[in-house]
Amino acid sequence: MKQKVGIGYDLHRLVEGRKLLIGGIEVPYEKGSLGHSDADVLLHAICDALLGALGKGDIGEHFPDTDPQYKDINSVILLEKVVRLVKNEGFVIRNIDTIIITEEPKLKNYKPEIRKKLSELMDLDQGDIGVKAKTMEGLGPIGNKEAIAAYATVLISKH
Ligand code: MG
Repeated sequence: MKQKVGIGYDLHRLVEGRKLLIGGIEVPYEKGSLGHSDADVLLHAICDALLGALGKGDIGEHFPDTDPQYKDINSVILLEKVVRLVKNEGFVIRNIDTIIITEEPKLKNYKPEIRKKLSELMDLDQGDIGVKAKTMEGLGPIGNKEAIAAYATVLISKH
Protein backbone atom coordinates (compact mmCIF):
# COMPACT_ATOMS: atom_id res chain seq x y z
CA MET A 1 0.00 0.00 0.00
CA LYS A 2 1.22 3.46 -0.92
CA GLN A 3 0.48 6.21 1.59
CA LYS A 4 1.11 9.93 1.19
CA VAL A 5 0.60 12.91 3.46
CA GLY A 6 -0.04 16.51 2.45
CA ILE A 7 -0.06 19.88 4.17
CA GLY A 8 -2.00 22.99 3.23
CA TYR A 9 -2.20 26.55 4.49
CA ASP A 10 -4.21 29.59 3.51
CA LEU A 11 -4.93 33.11 4.74
CA HIS A 12 -7.47 35.70 3.66
CA ARG A 13 -8.07 39.29 4.69
CA LEU A 14 -11.31 39.96 6.57
CA VAL A 15 -13.27 42.92 5.20
CA GLU A 16 -16.76 44.36 5.46
CA GLY A 17 -19.25 43.56 2.73
CA ARG A 18 -18.13 39.96 2.16
CA LYS A 19 -19.52 36.66 3.36
CA LEU A 20 -17.51 34.53 5.76
CA LEU A 21 -17.38 31.00 4.39
CA ILE A 22 -15.54 28.36 6.39
CA GLY A 23 -15.58 24.77 5.19
CA GLY A 24 -18.51 25.45 2.88
CA ILE A 25 -20.59 26.86 5.75
CA GLU A 26 -21.60 30.52 5.95
CA VAL A 27 -20.73 31.78 9.41
CA PRO A 28 -22.57 34.97 10.48
CA TYR A 29 -20.08 37.78 11.17
CA GLU A 30 -19.74 41.50 10.52
CA LYS A 31 -16.88 40.84 8.08
CA GLY A 32 -16.07 38.23 5.48
CA SER A 33 -12.98 36.93 3.70
CA LEU A 34 -11.66 38.77 0.67
CA GLY A 35 -10.56 36.86 -2.42
CA HIS A 36 -11.07 36.18 -6.11
CA SER A 37 -13.22 33.15 -5.30
CA ASP A 38 -15.60 33.00 -2.33
CA ALA A 39 -12.35 32.94 -0.28
CA ASP A 40 -13.16 29.90 1.85
CA VAL A 41 -9.89 29.69 3.76
CA LEU A 42 -10.48 26.18 5.12
CA LEU A 43 -11.46 24.59 1.81
CA HIS A 44 -8.45 26.24 0.16
CA ALA A 45 -6.10 24.80 2.79
CA ILE A 46 -7.66 21.36 2.30
CA CYS A 47 -7.33 21.61 -1.51
CA ASP A 48 -3.64 22.44 -1.09
CA ALA A 49 -3.12 19.55 1.34
CA LEU A 50 -4.66 17.10 -1.16
CA LEU A 51 -2.73 18.54 -4.11
CA GLY A 52 0.45 18.40 -2.04
CA ALA A 53 -0.13 14.74 -1.19
CA LEU A 54 -0.60 14.01 -4.91
CA GLY A 55 2.51 16.02 -5.79
CA LYS A 56 0.37 18.07 -8.16
CA GLY A 57 1.21 21.66 -7.37
CA ASP A 58 -1.07 24.06 -5.55
CA ILE A 59 -4.48 25.65 -5.76
CA GLY A 60 -3.09 28.75 -7.48
CA GLU A 61 -1.80 26.64 -10.38
CA HIS A 62 -5.05 24.71 -10.78
CA PHE A 63 -7.45 27.62 -10.28
CA PRO A 64 -5.56 30.88 -11.08
CA ASP A 65 -6.97 34.03 -9.45
CA THR A 66 -6.45 35.80 -12.79
CA ASP A 67 -8.96 33.48 -14.48
CA PRO A 68 -12.46 35.03 -14.71
CA GLN A 69 -14.13 31.61 -14.54
CA TYR A 70 -13.07 31.37 -10.88
CA LYS A 71 -14.37 34.82 -9.91
CA ASP A 72 -16.56 34.41 -6.81
CA ILE A 73 -16.67 30.65 -7.43
CA ASN A 74 -18.00 28.49 -4.63
CA SER A 75 -14.91 26.77 -3.21
CA VAL A 76 -16.97 23.61 -2.73
CA ILE A 77 -16.67 23.23 -6.52
CA LEU A 78 -12.87 23.61 -6.30
CA LEU A 79 -12.65 20.95 -3.58
CA GLU A 80 -14.90 18.62 -5.59
CA LYS A 81 -12.52 18.97 -8.56
CA VAL A 82 -9.51 18.21 -6.34
CA VAL A 83 -11.24 15.21 -4.73
CA ARG A 84 -11.99 13.90 -8.23
CA LEU A 85 -8.30 14.28 -9.05
CA VAL A 86 -7.41 12.22 -5.96
CA LYS A 87 -9.83 9.47 -7.04
CA ASN A 88 -8.61 9.56 -10.65
CA GLU A 89 -5.08 8.91 -9.35
CA GLY A 90 -6.41 5.82 -7.59
CA PHE A 91 -6.08 7.23 -4.08
CA VAL A 92 -8.55 7.19 -1.19
CA ILE A 93 -8.60 9.96 1.41
CA ARG A 94 -8.01 8.34 4.81
CA ASN A 95 -8.23 11.23 7.22
CA ILE A 96 -7.86 14.95 7.42
CA ASP A 97 -6.99 17.29 10.26
CA THR A 98 -7.43 21.04 10.23
CA ILE A 99 -6.92 24.19 12.29
CA ILE A 100 -8.79 27.43 11.69
CA ILE A 101 -7.14 30.50 13.21
CA THR A 102 -9.37 33.50 13.79
CA GLU A 103 -9.94 35.91 16.66
CA GLU A 104 -13.63 36.31 15.81
CA PRO A 105 -16.17 34.93 15.38
CA LYS A 106 -16.03 32.08 17.87
CA LEU A 107 -16.44 28.86 15.88
CA LYS A 108 -17.45 26.54 18.72
CA ASN A 109 -21.08 26.37 17.57
CA TYR A 110 -20.15 25.92 13.89
CA LYS A 111 -17.51 23.21 14.14
CA PRO A 112 -20.01 20.30 14.08
CA GLU A 113 -21.67 21.69 10.95
CA ILE A 114 -18.30 22.29 9.26
CA ARG A 115 -17.22 18.75 10.09
CA LYS A 116 -20.45 17.31 8.69
CA LYS A 117 -20.04 19.31 5.48
CA LEU A 118 -16.42 18.15 5.08
CA SER A 119 -17.47 14.53 5.63
CA GLU A 120 -20.00 14.86 2.79
CA LEU A 121 -17.57 16.61 0.46
CA MET A 122 -14.79 14.07 0.95
CA ASP A 123 -16.85 10.97 1.62
CA LEU A 124 -15.23 10.51 5.04
CA ASP A 125 -16.55 9.43 8.42
CA GLN A 126 -16.74 12.36 10.80
CA GLY A 127 -14.34 10.43 13.04
CA ASP A 128 -11.70 10.83 10.32
CA ILE A 129 -12.02 14.60 10.27
CA GLY A 130 -10.49 17.05 12.73
CA VAL A 131 -11.75 20.62 12.89
CA LYS A 132 -10.02 22.76 15.50
CA ALA A 133 -10.30 26.48 16.15
CA LYS A 134 -7.60 28.70 17.62
CA THR A 135 -7.19 32.41 18.26
CA MET A 136 -3.96 34.45 18.08
CA GLU A 137 -4.49 35.79 21.61
CA GLY A 138 -4.96 39.25 20.11
CA LEU A 139 -1.55 39.27 18.40
CA GLY A 140 -0.77 40.26 14.81
CA PRO A 141 -3.17 40.75 11.88
CA ILE A 142 -5.27 37.71 12.78
CA GLY A 143 -5.45 38.83 16.40
CA ASN A 144 -6.47 42.26 15.09
CA LYS A 145 -9.39 40.67 13.21
CA GLU A 146 -7.89 41.69 9.86
CA ALA A 147 -7.33 38.13 8.62
CA ILE A 148 -8.30 34.50 8.99
CA ALA A 149 -6.03 31.51 8.33
CA ALA A 150 -6.30 27.76 8.17
CA TYR A 151 -4.01 24.72 8.13
CA ALA A 152 -4.86 21.23 6.89
CA THR A 153 -3.08 17.90 6.76
CA VAL A 154 -4.32 14.85 4.93
CA LEU A 155 -3.42 11.19 4.49
CA ILE A 156 -4.24 9.44 1.21
CA SER A 157 -3.49 5.87 0.22
CA LYS A 158 -3.80 3.35 -2.59
CA HIS A 159 -3.21 -0.35 -3.00
MG1 MG B 1 -7.33 31.15 -0.60
